[in-house]
Amino acid sequence: MNLRRVIAFALVLLLAMGVRHATAHPAPDTADTNDYADADAQILKEIHDHSEVMENLEHLSDAIGARLTGSPQLKQANEWTAEMFRKYGLTNVHLEPWTIAHSWTRGTAHARIVKPAEHPLTIAAAGWSPSTPGVLHAPVVYFDAKKKDEFEKFRGKLKGAVVIYQEPASLSPPKPEDSRSEFVRAMQAPPPMKGEPPAPSPYAVLQEAAKARTAFFKQEGVAAVLRDSNKPHALLNMTGIGGEKFEIGAIPTAFITGEGYRMLFRMLKHGPVEVELDMTNSFSDKPVEVYNTVAEIRGTEKPDEVVMLGAHLDSWDLGTGSTDNGTGSMAVLEAARTLAKLQLKPKRTIRFVLFTGEEEGLVGSVKYVEAHKPDLDKISGIFVHDTGTGRVLTLGLHDNYQDREIVDQEIAPLRELKLLEPSMQRSFGTDHASFDDVGVPGFWAIQDGAEYTKTHHSQSDTFDKVWKDDLNQGAQVLAAWAYNTAQLPAMLPRRPVPAKTPPANPDAKKNEEAIAKPADSDAANVASAKPDPLSEMDTKILAQVKADEPELKANLLFLTDHIGPRLTGSEQLDQASRWMLARFQQLGLANAHQEPWSIANRWTRGPATGRVLLSSDAKSAEAPIAIHLTMATGGWSPATEGTLKGPVVGVAVEKAEDLQQYEGKLKGAIVVLGKPLDLQAPQNPMLTPWGEETIPIAFPKSDKPFDFTAYMKLRTAELAFFAEEKAAAVLLGSEKWFGLLNMSISGRNYQPGVIPTAYIAREDFMLLWRLLDSGTVQAEVNIAGNFSGKPAEVYNTVAEITGSEKPDEVVIIGAHLDSWDLGTGATDNGTGSTAVLEAARALKKSGVKPKRTIRFVLFTGEEQGLNGSKAYVTKHQDELKKISAVLVHDSGTGKVLTIGLMGNYDARETLDRVMYPLARAKEIGLAEPTLRKEDGSDHVPFDEAGVPGFWCVQEVADYDKTHHSQADTVDRVRWDDLTEGAQILAVFAYNVAQLPELLPRKSPKP
Ligand SMILES: [Zn+2]
Ligand SMILES: [Zn+2]
Repeated sequence: MNLRRVIAFALVLLLAMGVRHATAHPAPDTADTNDYADADAQILKEIHDHSEVMENLEHLSDAIGARLTGSPQLKQANEWTAEMFRKYGLTNVHLEPWTIAHSWTRGTAHARIVKPAEHPLTIAAAGWSPSTPGVLHAPVVYFDAKKKDEFEKFRGKLKGAVVIYQEPASLSPPKPEDSRSEFVRAMQAPPPMKGEPPAPSPYAVLQEAAKARTAFFKQEGVAAVLRDSNKPHALLNMTGIGGEKFEIGAIPTAFITGEGYRMLFRMLKHGPVEVELDMTNSFSDKPVEVYNTVAEIRGTEKPDEVVMLGAHLDSWDLGTGSTDNGTGSMAVLEAARTLAKLQLKPKRTIRFVLFTGEEEGLVGSVKYVEAHKPDLDKISGIFVHDTGTGRVLTLGLHDNYQDREIVDQEIAPLRELKLLEPSMQRSFGTDHASFDDVGVPGFWAIQDGAEYTKTHHSQSDTFDKVWKDDLNQGAQVLAAWAYNTAQLPAMLPRRPVPAKTPPANPDAKKNEEAIAKPADSDAANVASAKPDPLSEMDTKILAQVKADEPELKANLLFLTDHIGPRLTGSEQLDQASRWMLARFQQLGLANAHQEPWSIANRWTRGPATGRVLLSSDAKSAEAPIAIHLTMATGGWSPATEGTLKGPVVGVAVEKAEDLQQYEGKLKGAIVVLGKPLDLQAPQNPMLTPWGEETIPIAFPKSDKPFDFTAYMKLRTAELAFFAEEKAAAVLLGSEKWFGLLNMSISGRNYQPGVIPTAYIAREDFMLLWRLLDSGTVQAEVNIAGNFSGKPAEVYNTVAEITGSEKPDEVVIIGAHLDSWDLGTGATDNGTGSTAVLEAARALKKSGVKPKRTIRFVLFTGEEQGLNGSKAYVTKHQDELKKISAVLVHDSGTGKVLTIGLMGNYDARETLDRVMYPLARAKEIGLAEPTLRKEDGSDHVPFDEAGVPGFWCVQEVADYDKTHHSQADTVDRVRWDDLTEGAQILAVFAYNVAQLPELLPRKSPKP
């Protein structure tokens, strides 16, 4: 699509969207003009055009093969990668040795069920498992003890047995493969506050249990252990039992297919089961040296400061380690090739490290960190690629809040890579974590799942599973990130390491677990559970909102069905304001009152009708063939004062100068403004690439950011021009199909617009342009409406729960009570309004005594340009410093996914703490807060005045259809989601009111 069409479309779109977004739009990201954008473009192009990643990975997979730590193949891979780094022109290429207690060589493994019936089993020895002493013939015992005190019932019953201990999960139907649909950035428990000890490791409990279990098995003389691979289709799984020191495992242990495991489990329910089992494995009799491969591009200005890219070269050995982690290793190598070839001369040194021993517990990276202790403070940061072949969705920042804004700027030039918003999520499953543990910012690649759950550690981890384009995208992200980080004015800021470092060296198990469920495990919840008055009150508030569901529903039904649409200045809006005030008073809220502001004119809608006259033939003039247009008068449009007939003229221009061609040609014309263009439906905001718009309405298919200021200038010029040229009327096309209209204001500041304006259905809009393309078109229109001719007062409705300790400090939750009038404003913004009312009710009924004042505000005049909230901010100038935060609910009826922080980076960590109780409530499951901006609701005037102003990020839920259309009725409301919205408002308000301090303001921009 060319730029011309995009701009023309943008006109149509914005006219249709009207003032919902007609507030100061931030200038398009200026970060892409920074000094690394050019280099990034070269990096992306080089990898796109000349990538060697696939041939390298094929060689690694097929010619070298599986790379168990301590094996000759891994050593060969170390040497080959070093050779490649040298070939690509890197410097300081070398291998850094460390030592393992024993290498381990897989032998044979056979098993079959011999009783109650014969069945072959597919098994593979766990890493570092000893051999069985010949062929075992043994009963199978299911050890169902989960806790140590339950072990005793097995005392004396395990001697010589083959033990299974896992309760199998269902393998059918398989889990959906699309991991992106699941990727909603589930929130994790926030990291410890400054000075607090680290949170207990979610794995500590599991590791402790595993240790105790193994000791008990050993004592009791267990012959062997069989572990569930827990994958479908006979795929095996693998991990090691030799620990981080690569010791000889305590008990012969093997993985068995999911199918085999479940058969054993089923059979055991009916009676005794016996198996035959034998494994032969071998160990080195002395310690073995293993290596990390290291290479560099030396920095030109600060060579002693280092930016690192990492992946692990070792693998398990059932497949060829192509996706775990051949992909990451070869992406790092490709990034190195690219940066070296382009000779970009980074300021800082870029170092590439291929770790080993990762599969046994990130051991190679831990050894690296130990060996480099003296120069850790010169490592700016590290980024690790280790979650398979899927494209990099975004960077996981592992609690490095202090780096978030910088990372956002770093990825700004990478728009074409479609990265999602960076996440604060921790993962203990890749080598970056070893660096975070010692205070070096370590980031991990959050990737598309591809088929990782199947290939990971299984015999199916082979080259044929690799996705070329996705892997190249990963190499592009790595290379650009490394370069951009090397060019930063300073090293990446660091997060202080908690007082006592957590167990530095996670078990390999962590790896799988972290991938399988990134959110905090129940184990962590149990470990951190202690009575907390804040969370007790949160629980109470959540339950209260739930219990009030009937009231919430009754309120919204009353507001929409009995009061109806609430145009600012209308009698219905006055009625709604009085009704809301009465509800507040009834709840016993403090300081319930109305705050008046005024508009220049009330406007009352009249009918708008129009016809396209297909035949202007004189003979048929009495009954011309005509098509009726579906249309509605634009808000505050002057009337045509009767039916006007005239030629239809289509006008679609890029700039005001282009209007000159119509000079003298529009007198009496009916102008159709803007050409209809292709639309793209809005998507889940959490899955929208970072930097792209998330407004929940349809938008033009375009990769260009929209320039709102230029658009507004052009539109004003156009309407003035049409008025001057004495055109009869202007018709604007709705962007919605199925006859759904849109609505917006055609005047400014509640003054009559300069020319009669109406919105027409998209189908009619298309028709008019088709007819125009084939010849001249006549039409007639009648656009009606009335003005009061004098100013009128309207009201924001306000009430409070007064703070007990700091009553003059305030938290606001808000929504707008006014609406457009084609429907009944049920989702825009009856939902938000009644959610605020419900939050007030639930807080009051829960008996909260907040430290700060919680204020509930229902704005008006939002639809004509956030006028009520602007009036509020103006009136409360003196108080703004004392407003901690404002949260507005105004994107329809969809589930509130999280809250949007409008670029308040400094408030992000605090907000994670504020919102976490909501994420933890399973039925709400709030996603990680976003830094995204949204410019169309009442939080904006607060944001612009320096008050933290936040918005509810909601699922689209047909908002693109209901928004400002006749379909905005209560039928569309999703009641459960609305209840959740009220829960989120209430808990947000209370938790912010209880914070020790006011929320930090945005730091002033240079
Ligand atoms: Zn891995
Ligand atoms: Zn709204």
